[in-house]
Amino acid sequence: MDDLTTHGIEARADWRAYHSATEEADPRYHNRPDCVDGAAIEDENIRDGTADRPLCDKCHSAEHPNK
Ligand SMILES: [Zn+2]
Repeated sequence: MDDLTTHGIEARADWRAYHSATEEADPRYHNRPDCVDGAAIEDENIRDGTADRPLCDKCHSAEHPNK
């Protein structure tokens, strides 16, 4: 019953790579649904996938449930 403890945060199924379609000075992709940088992307500019970008530092430093 405590599967959630391995996630550290609210369990969500949508841990997937996403990025902004806009030009960024320091392009990154995100995989945290609650990343503050990811949350700053306008909904209309969110795209699936990594776009061959490096992972955002905030996402990188967070625990990933798939580890
Ligand atoms: Zn991020």
